[in-house]
This record gives sequence, C-alpha cells and structure tokens, in this order.
Amino acid sequence: MAKLYEGKAKIIYETDNPDEVRVLFKDDATAFDGKKKGSIEGKGECNAAISARLFEYLEGQGVPTHYVERLSAKELLCRQLEIIQVEVVARNVAAGSLAKRLGLEEGLVLDRPVLEYYYKSDELGDPLINRYHIRLLELATDEQLDELDRLAWKINELLYEFLDERGLRLVDFKLEFGLDSEGTILLGDEISPDTCRFWDVESGEKLDKDRFRRDLGRVEETYQEVRSRIVDA
Ligand code: UDP
Repeated sequence: MAKLYEGKAKIIYETDNPDEVRVLFKDDATAFDGKKKGSIEGKGECNAAISARLFEYLEGQGVPTHYVERLSAKELLCRQLEIIQVEVVARNVAAGSLAKRLGLEEGLVLDRPVLEYYYKSDELGDPLINRYHIRLLELATDEQLDELDRLAWKINELLYEFLDERGLRLVDFKLEFGLDSEGTILLGDEISPDTCRFWDVESGEKLDKDRFRRDLGRVEETYQEVRSRIVDA
C-alpha cells in the first residue's frame, strides 16, 4: 500500500480502510533539529510495543487515542488523523529546554506542572508558542485548545502513576493530537522514550532518548529496559 508520509522515526502507510493507517516505527534517531543523526538497533520494536501498551492503558481510562491494534513487532494500526500542528509538552520536573530557558536546575520538581505549546514546523525549528499565537495562526480553535489542555493534564496524571509503579519517573513528554473523520480529537503520534523523559525512580538514571542526544552510552539497552518495565510488567 502507498506510503502517505515518512517522518524521522515513523513511516505512515495507507490501508484498505480510508479511516485507518499503518504506522511503521523505524530504528532511525535524530536530535537537535535533525543535526544529529543515528540509528538505535531495536528502537522501532521497543517504541511500537511501548506506545501500544500506553495507548491501550489510556484508552481503558477513557482517553480517546488513534490506536487500533498492533499489527507486527514494528507496526501499529491507527485511525487516520488530520494532525493539529501544535505539539503539547507537559512537564513535572525541570529538564531540557525548560531548564535552559528559565535558568532552572535540571531535576527541580515543579510545584505546579507546566504545559507548553510548540508550533510543528521543521522550517522554523518548532518554536515555543502561546494561545495568542495559536489563534493568530489558526492552528486550533479555543474550544479545541481547551480540550487539548484537559486531555494533556489527564494523560499526565494517568501516565505519571502508571510509570511510577514501574520504577519510571515521568519528567516531561510531548503529545500530538488530531481530528478523525468526524472531527473528534484523538491522541495521536507515539508515547515512547523518544518523546518522553523517564528517570529511574531510585537512581535518577536517565532512561530515554537523552542517552542518544547526550552520548551517555547504553542506548539500545535503555530502550529494551523501558520496554520490559512497561510492556512485560
Ligand atoms: N520532545 C519531542 N519532540 C520534539 C521536542 C521535544 O518529543 O521535537 C519531547 C522531549 O523528548 C521531552 C519533551 O518533549 O520529553 C520536552 O523537550 P524539551 O522542550 O526539553 O526539548 P529538548 O531538550 O528535547 O530539545
């Protein structure tokens, strides 16, 4: 079946059903706006398995997602979405660009978790935006944005607890949402160590893509470790 889209970490193929797509997870890894490129053996399988498990869990808790079923080790069947061009980032602990931008020490627990929006634009390097910018660019209506906020907070609460029980501290993560053919907002994309920061609850060790971004070593092993904690537990 025809390829609809190829991104940095996934390929989307059409299926016989116009409302569904096949999502293939790749081993390719990029960081720093694509300036750093590499491959992480087994990442595609790990991220497909981790995403499937987390989408199943969220669906079971009443969060509408695009996930339909797992087709193979590296492939998920998902609902076709028109993606809202806003990345929603939720943060529980200061790290990454938040720590840098606001001069906060990495690891500072945020008394009040933070939500941020980024404009999905490779050309512009995904700039940080606010509600006024979203209105200006007509990326989402106010009602849709309220729904994204509500879902992002609910997902944060659900995932934080689910992961904590598995020894993973949910530091921050990025979500993407889209509209199905009826205009309903569904959670899309993936939830994996590529899109979340996970720190070991006991040791604080980084168990996510920062191992690749910052050349911390044991990259492949880390994806396997996270898969086993989330999928086998
Ligand atoms: N993130 C992502 N895709 C992006 C940018 C960020 O999945 O294009 C995730 C990232 O893995 C982290 C969270 O969003 O869990 C916050 O990322 P941050 O803004 O700190 O940027 P980074 O340090 O990754 O450049």
